[in-house]
Amino acid sequence: MQGLMMQQPLLVASLLTHAERHHGAREIVSRRVEGDIHRYTYRDLAQRARRMANALAALGIQPGERVATLAWNGYRHMELYFAASGSGAVLHTLNPRLHIDQLAYIIDHAQDRVVFFDVTFMPLIESVAARVKSPKVFVAMTDRAHMPRAHVLSTMLMCYEDLIDASSDAFDWPLVDENSASSLCYTSGTTGHPKGVLYSHRSTLLHTFSAALPDSLNCSARDSILPVVPMFHVNAWGLPYIACMVGAKLVFPGAALDGASLHELIESEQVTLSAGVPTVWQGLLAHVDETKGSFSSMRRTVIGGAPCPTAMAAAFQERYQVDVLHAWGMTELSPLGTVCSFKAHQLALPQPDRYALQAKQGRAVFGIDMKIVGPQGLELPWDGRSAGDLMVRGPWVTRQYFGSDDASPLSDGWFPTGDIAKIDPDGFMQITDRSKDVIKSGGEWISSAEIENIACLHPDVTTAVCIGARHPKWDERPLLLVVKKPDSAVTEHELLRFFDGRLAKWCMPDAVVFIDSVPHGATGKVLKHQLRDQFTDYFVPG
Ligand code: AMP
Repeated sequence: MQGLMMQQPLLVASLLTHAERHHGAREIVSRRVEGDIHRYTYRDLAQRARRMANALAALGIQPGERVATLAWNGYRHMELYFAASGSGAVLHTLNPRLHIDQLAYIIDHAQDRVVFFDVTFMPLIESVAARVKSPKVFVAMTDRAHMPRAHVLSTMLMCYEDLIDASSDAFDWPLVDENSASSLCYTSGTTGHPKGVLYSHRSTLLHTFSAALPDSLNCSARDSILPVVPMFHVNAWGLPYIACMVGAKLVFPGAALDGASLHELIESEQVTLSAGVPTVWQGLLAHVDETKGSFSSMRRTVIGGAPCPTAMAAAFQERYQVDVLHAWGMTELSPLGTVCSFKAHQLALPQPDRYALQAKQGRAVFGIDMKIVGPQGLELPWDGRSAGDLMVRGPWVTRQYFGSDDASPLSDGWFPTGDIAKIDPDGFMQITDRSKDVIKSGGEWISSAEIENIACLHPDVTTAVCIGARHPKWDERPLLLVVKKPDSAVTEHELLRFFDGRLAKWCMPDAVVFIDSVPHGATGKVLKHQLRDQFTDYFVPG
């Protein structure tokens, strides 16, 4: 027998219409790249998103076509989140920190029809535009008065506010299939090209419900939320959608992610909840320590993307009375998988035990099922000691990469995360290692394979191995270990110079160490963990 309830598709646009109707006067505040603070309401957002939806239609964007953004966190970016997805197109957020070759590859692979960009990215856009085949139109996200001077783009360059002004705010969000694609985000892995993860309206809505829950990110209409995590990094962990669902005030930091700017915004906008990677919080804590400042309103901060050091959790909690929510996720998981929020019986734990618990990435949010498996694929016990490959499944976990001919990454219906983890009897998961060798620098990924490939192009290099060595500011930085050709006199400086123009600056190795040989395992693979053990503290003073 069938249930007798209404069938209503779960659609991204419904988040916006809900926010407009029930929280219309709630504010959205943005630090603009133009330099000033902009403020308006959900009502304004909804109206301008409808105008932009009409503008996209006028540009000829068809359902399912990709609308790219290269932008910081701000209200225009938010408008595009809903204008693109809501009208049936696919929002494709581009990461400006990628190397230009990767950006060009991704834009063409996604077949983006139009690219919206913040004016700070004009030089980048002009270089990219010269390389890509797909987009015919580029839109500067600003008004006429701030339009950048174009050299290459001129005929294809449009102005965001002109599009808004020329469009009506009457637009009916179409009732598309809830399983149709709503947004696209590329993840850069160790090998090969970046891979596209294609979210659906349904997966996004279900993720939003679960991520907003009290034991997840714990968001409500009383919150003022500052997403420091970029809107180009897995949809700012879903916060733009969550804020609409619960009617929270939103505060967007734009390009100013330094400690002083963030602290000023947190205080002036009475932020209660923020979210970002550990590197950003390091800068914020250093500033607040230095200026003997405090947080008058912020009560919680979500820390994820990389492990949250215990010292950071302690600083926030003890010095500033800000609770830390350690979370784990992946682009392939939309991104939320686990959050470290206490269970009732853990509240009374002594402090050292609480910190030990908070060093874990946490327990699965509803909707995510997880397990750890050993080398033969057999499930390992949740004893807090056994470490294995972390596998997940759920309605917001990817089953296939976008535009890929490869077989589904799933194994028996489970997604292999590439992380190695333990799970304790309470269900708290802790990442112990990564099976991939990618290097995490300030929450961004650096591919060691790419660095090794380039190093090996140098005529004096026999073998090159790149590892992530711990770094006081960036969590990890690439350290290049090189076996040089016999009799070669190549220097560290010469090798580092070799990367100029071949690799994005922030991906370049920080140092080169010459070694005599590289350890290999039984199947001929380099034993990177041995090298990591040996050099992990290379960048740590003392
Ligand atoms: P991304 O797809 O770029 O978000 O990266 C996902 C990967 O980041 C995961 O597979 C983990 O290796 C790592 N990661 C995310 N959150 C954490 C965390 N809290 N602690 C340790 N590693 C994390």
